[in-house]
Amino acid sequence: MQEHSLDPQNWEEFRQLAHQMLDDAIDYMRDVGERPVWKKVPASTHALTQEPLPQEGQDAAEVYATFKEHILPYTKGNIHPRFFSWVQGTGVPMGVMADLLASTMNPNVAIGDHAAMYVDQQVINWCKSLFDFPETASGMLVSGGTIANLTGLTVARNSFLEGVRDKGLSAFPQLVVYSSVETHSCNQKAVEVLGIGNDFFRRIPVDENYRIRIPELKAQIAADRAAGLTPFCIIGNTGTVNTGAIDPIGDLLAIARAEGMWLHVDGAFGALAYLVPEYQEEVKALSEVDSMGFDLHKWLYLPYEIGCALIRDKDKHRAAFSLQPTYLNNHDRGLSAGPDPTTNYGIELSRGFKALKAWMSIKNHGIEKFKTLIAQNIQQCRYLGQLIENNPQLELLAPIPLNVVCFRFNPSGKTQAELNDLNKELLMRLHESGVAAPSNTLLNGNYAIRVAHVNFRTRQSDMDLLVETVLLIGQEMVNG
Ligand SMILES: *Cc1c(COP(=O)(O)O)cnc(C)c1O
Repeated sequence: MQEHSLDPQNWEEFRQLAHQMLDDAIDYMRDVGERPVWKKVPASTHALTQEPLPQEGQDAAEVYATFKEHILPYTKGNIHPRFFSWVQGTGVPMGVMADLLASTMNPNVAIGDHAAMYVDQQVINWCKSLFDFPETASGMLVSGGTIANLTGLTVARNSFLEGVRDKGLSAFPQLVVYSSVETHSCNQKAVEVLGIGNDFFRRIPVDENYRIRIPELKAQIAADRAAGLTPFCIIGNTGTVNTGAIDPIGDLLAIARAEGMWLHVDGAFGALAYLVPEYQEEVKALSEVDSMGFDLHKWLYLPYEIGCALIRDKDKHRAAFSLQPTYLNNHDRGLSAGPDPTTNYGIELSRGFKALKAWMSIKNHGIEKFKTLIAQNIQQCRYLGQLIENNPQLELLAPIPLNVVCFRFNPSGKTQAELNDLNKELLMRLHESGVAAPSNTLLNGNYAIRVAHVNFRTRQSDMDLLVETVLLIGQEMVNG
């Protein structure tokens, strides 16, 4: 009888090819700044990605050659020093290697007595200590901020409504959630998924610095109570996507405590400002919130995907998710022993060893280095802000409270609509030039070129080049 396997038939051949892949990957990272930040995906790649399911295998070297020619060059660009789009991290090289090693071990980090379970827990403990959460707090490493926020909000709901896991929402009065108009869309999805409904997710107006208005929040909570609804959770923002605004978390905490409500903070990138001495006073209340979500693949520069939910009360966290069927029973000894299965703290069962890239990268660089880089990004944004303010053809469209810069090219005598069209075309041309990749947003109806900066490869000279190129393209456009 012929038996089959997926292992290489010739390990030495595989080794040679794998070494080639690794060498290429290292060169690729080293030389990234010499290539365009972005290139349009060509027809050949579209054709390749429409090929049907392969029935027969192909030589590994051929598969790799196809990847190298048709996939690798047409990257998103977020490892490039002049990538500033959305809020997307760079990916530290040590994390790249850790991902390879994690895939090599390939543990399912859900249950059992094996090292990955302890590394996973250690990284959560490190995350707790980053924000001065108590040792008794708990957490969960997840795919990103979206699931981290959903996790926090699920604990909020399930602990607020005793018995909701059995009875469902119809047994309870209508819950209401509050955040600012600037809150990230993933929080709406969470409110929808949790069955609360977007109609009961209040978006409170913001002040001129895009921070939630406290008097309006209080008035809305009072009005909802008077209407027989149940205000139950405030979502504070530490670093909004549009402008990097930081809500007054201390004020939100005081309201939540006075009203018997839960305070969750979406700190996807901005929570890391907690590590920068200059911001410590402003965000110190983070250490006291009921739950928070943040990303390690944004401002801790790790490769995708890794985010973290932190929950102050471990018992509430466990009670929100715990479910251990007989086939997941813990034993006293052997492989089936080990820590409390992670499935008791989240929605997912199977989980990869994403903790390893955090563990190896943080051990390698030390958290002080990360703090320095976060502060460096903030400095670079302020520098960019100065370049913009010093140039009469450029206009800053929002304050720069953190690491987001919104601006536009503004030659005099144009209407809002004309400026919006002009800057949209300018941004597309900038991307096509391959020089730099900011993204965009709308602020009070004004189209903004938006730099969100979580890039450890960027130098001040990259900001110079960004501004020079924006001016060059802009002037070219208005002068025909
Ligand atoms: C990126 C981001 C999210 C979503 O996080 P993902 O990691 O993309 O799931 C949520 N909130 C804010 C403020 C963000 O910047």
